[in-house]
Amino acid sequence: MSTDKRPLIAGNWKMNGTGAALAEISRLRNLVADSGAARADILICPPATLLHRASETASGSAIAVGGQDCHAAASGAHTGDISAQMLTDAGATHVIVGHSERRTDHGETSADVRAKADVALGAGLIPVICVGETEAEREAGSANRVVADQFASSLPDYGDGTEIIIAYEPVWAIGTGKTPTIADIADMHAHIRQLLVERFGEAGAAARILYGGSVKPSNAEEILSVPNVDGALVGGASLKADDFFAIVAAS
Ligand code: PEP
Repeated sequence: MSTDKRPLIAGNWKMNGTGAALAEISRLRNLVADSGAARADILICPPATLLHRASETASGSAIAVGGQDCHAAASGAHTGDISAQMLTDAGATHVIVGHSERRTDHGETSADVRAKADVALGAGLIPVICVGETEAEREAGSANRVVADQFASSLPDYGDGTEIIIAYEPVWAIGTGKTPTIADIADMHAHIRQLLVERFGEAGAAARILYGGSVKPSNAEEILSVPNVDGALVGGASLKADDFFAIVAAS
């Protein structure tokens, strides 16, 4: 790893997995146990339907579980939605907010993301706040500005920066097999680090910044060695325990 921070390797299962997929968590816990103490913190964010069983399957291991989203309200008339407190109750310690698929599929704005991050912190969850530019924005040379705008508008009002994680996920790299150059990852993570330090001082220097977008066993070591890359948010390659563990082992 590039820093002395303990990395976090987080898996986002998205809308994949029924009860049979819990076997992957069992296998992952065995792989982690057999390897001795993992150098990274490990988080799996399964679909909400599996959260409680996933937390029971991971119980007593080094694997934490988290939600993929929460509602911005604590409770109420929001059919089909899930509150931050419900995630905590189901065993979650973290929640992803502002994933680009939520921003695109559900029209979530950065203001919505901020409200979700606020309610997550209030429920004792660590929000993993996603930011990232589209391909058109990168080609137009506006990636840094877009990410700075998302950062300014998506971070919670609540808290002092000690309990948040940022995930930089270029939208065009998610699920596509494409990744930015190592130099581009380094530049963006340095940019986000500067934003964190300007806003939170020492807590910003200590906060973790994950990279996400087509991380897989074959590129994990190189990406995870980039300065200010403090872990990874992994989609497709988190679905199989062996692939995901190979990324953990590369950290
Ligand atoms: C993600 O969904 O956050 C992600 C990074 O997906 P993938 O690893 O499949 O690109």
